[in-house]
Amino acid sequence: MDSAVTVERARALFGALPRPLGFVPTMGALHGGHLELVRRARARCATVGASIFVNPLQFGPNEDLESYPRDPEHDREKLAAAGVDVLFAPEAREMYPPGFAAAVDLGALGERFEGAVRPGHFRGVATVVAKLLNVVRPDVLFLGQKDAQQAVLVGKMIRDLDFAVEVAIVPTVRESDGLAMSSRNSYLDPTQRAQAPSLHKALLRVRDALEAGRGKNDAIAEGTAELSAAAKLDYLDLVDAREFAPLERLRLPAYIIGAARFGSTRLIDNLWLTS
Ligand code: AMP
Repeated sequence: MDSAVTVERARALFGALPRPLGFVPTMGALHGGHLELVRRARARCATVGASIFVNPLQFGPNEDLESYPRDPEHDREKLAAAGVDVLFAPEAREMYPPGFAAAVDLGALGERFEGAVRPGHFRGVATVVAKLLNVVRPDVLFLGQKDAQQAVLVGKMIRDLDFAVEVAIVPTVRESDGLAMSSRNSYLDPTQRAQAPSLHKALLRVRDALEAGRGKNDAIAEGTAELSAAAKLDYLDLVDAREFAPLERLRLPAYIIGAARFGSTRLIDNLWLTS
C-alpha cells in the first residue's frame, strides 16, 4: 500500500491508479464497519483508495476532537491487509493551511437532527468531503448508512455541485447484540456498553409499531420505552429519505433515526425503511 501525507503526492498516486477507483474516507480507529466499506469497494472497483483524517472542521468547540480515538499503526495494517492501494493521511495544516476560508453549506438538510445538535458539523463534513473528492478524484465514493444524514447530505452536495462521482451506501455493520460499530464505542465503560444496544432496540420497536399500523407518536413512545433508563435521548424520529424532514406518517423510503448519550458518549443509529 502506498501512502501520502501531502495533497501533491496524493494527487500523483491516486491519478496513476487504474480505473474505476473506489474511495473510502474515514477518521481512523478502524473497525469492521470501515473494513466492510473497503470490501465493497474492492468488489466493485479495480483499485481502492482510503483516507484517514480527523477533520477539525466537523467538531464543535466542546466536542471530542482531542480525545477522538487514534490508532494509525493498526489502521495502516488493516487497510493494507484489506487491499487498499493508496492511503491519504494528511495533517490538519495540509488540509487547512493558513488563510483557508472555504465552506460548503447544504442548507436546511445540514441543520436538522445531527446538524441541530452539532451546529456547523455538516458544513465541516461537506467541506472536507469536497476537498477529498478533488484530491482523490474517485469514480465511486463509499459511505456508511450508519451515518445516514451524512450520506444523504454528501449525495446532495455531489448533485448540487456536479461532482463526477457515484455514491454507494453500505449497510450498517453491527456487533452481535445489535450495537452499530463505531469508533466511539471504545469510550463506553462495561455498564454503558451493556446499555448501548438499547438504541438499536428502540429503532426496531418504532419500526415494528409503525408496521403494525400504529401512529407515529405512539410508535415513537414505544421505541423510547425500549431505551435504557440510564441513557439520555437526543432524538428519535421518522424522516423522509431525501431531506431528513420529519414525517407525520410512514411514507417510503424513510429512515427511523435516533441519537442518545450513554454517560458522555453520544451514539447515533438508524434503520432504512423501503418498499
Ligand atoms: P468515520 O470514521 O466514523 O468518519 O466513518 C467513516 C465511514 O465509515 C463513514 O462513511 C461511516 O458512515 C462508515 N461507517 C462507520 N461505522 C459504520 C458501520 N458500523 N457500518 C458501516 N459503515 C460505517
